[in-house]
Amino acid sequence: MALKRDKHDAVFSELVRERTNWQCDYCGNYFHHDHGHLHCSHFKSRRHKATRYHPFNAFAHCAGCHRKLGEDPYEFTMHASITYGERVIDRVAHLAAVPVRLKSWQMDEIYQHMKTELKRLRELRAGGNIWRIEFTLPPWYQEGVTYRVGEAA
Ligand SMILES: [Zn+2]
Repeated sequence: MALKRDKHDAVFSELVRERTNWQCDYCGNYFHHDHGHLHCSHFKSRRHKATRYHPFNAFAHCAGCHRKLGEDPYEFTMHASITYGERVIDRVAHLAAVPVRLKSWQMDEIYQHMKTELKRLRELRAGGNIWRIEFTLPPWYQEGVTYRVGEAA
């Protein structure tokens, strides 16, 4: 099932690909001049709200690697664990399973935070930094949203 992409997904995708300086996390090829062939690839599906914008649930993958890893969950898990560490990936998998409903002010805060981070990464790129640059989300999101669906607003 295809999930509709909105502005939050768009800025998150830019962040994930800017993080590696447009390099595929899996094969290492660069896509500076071919942005359309580098994707933002999720380890746990985007349908899980708790990890949809989690920095350690996403990778920059070229179209070929994205397809290959999508067809091979075992290899994707190994690759994810090598990239971020097994404990981090266990945590992401645990977070993904927590049902959350993000309120509109929370979506706004996530969006503004990501926009600020994207600006920071692009300034560092403009300044000549060619290395991987990690980005964050608001701590309450990145560390795990603690309330569950059905709780009072
Ligand atoms: Zn690749």
